[in-house]
Amino acid sequence: MSGWKHVSAIITAGGRGVRIGGDVPKQFLELSGKPILEHTLENFQATGLVDEVLLVVPADSVSQVEKDYARFNGWLTRVVAGGKERQDSVGNGLNSLGPSADIVLVHDGVRPFVTHEMLQKSIATAHEHGGAICAIPVSDTLKRADANGVVSETIDRQGLWRMQTPQTFSRGILEEAFEQARADGFYGTDEGMLVERLGRPVKLVTGSEFNIKITRPEDLVLAKRIATFWQDYVRQTK
Ligand code: C5P
Repeated sequence: MSGWKHVSAIITAGGRGVRIGGDVPKQFLELSGKPILEHTLENFQATGLVDEVLLVVPADSVSQVEKDYARFNGWLTRVVAGGKERQDSVGNGLNSLGPSADIVLVHDGVRPFVTHEMLQKSIATAHEHGGAICAIPVSDTLKRADANGVVSETIDRQGLWRMQTPQTFSRGILEEAFEQARADGFYGTDEGMLVERLGRPVKLVTGSEFNIKITRPEDLVLAKRIATFWQDYVRQTK
């Protein structure tokens, strides 16, 4: 229970992403003895901060996931069929929310290292400002290059951040943003983009360098290292 409002989470695991190699979508790949998605669910559950959890998976995996993830019953509210793009999957999650949801938090199923602190800050900020995204200030020098890798300009990194999830919003704002995007046929790369199009404020909260999105084979190598110290790290930051 959040203590603020009714908080619902949409966890996106509806991709078929096999860029990482093999035939298994990356959210089901093994990380230190269990699927990546199971780490994400366990770390989420451990925060105790969400009241409703919708897990979005590929449409043809729904019944298998319901069976395999039965130990989350009671906490996990519903397994929902995903869509073609990530935005479609989040949209399906939004359509499946229960009537009580006030704050909706969207999180990538392939970001297992989510903490209580991240969720707490996101929920409190979304409550106050309407929208909150976990992000990291850019520390590298940024350059734009052409297709041949020849640099055309250096970009001032002042004020630039890299977006992560959770991305957390008041339910009404997120629903309005999705309706508008649907009407315009607009697809964004995160929920924040859809809310920004409405001219609504989105506030950034500091995420974590450990909150990686597992996309490439080297991310899985890194995730295995993070998993070795994760529980100690979480205990220290509580
Ligand atoms: O492909 P990408 O790394 O952006 O995916 C981020 C998250 O969104 C993953 O957890 C993936 O399973 C999910 N996703 C989804 N539905 C899609 C595509 C991706 O839920 N159609």
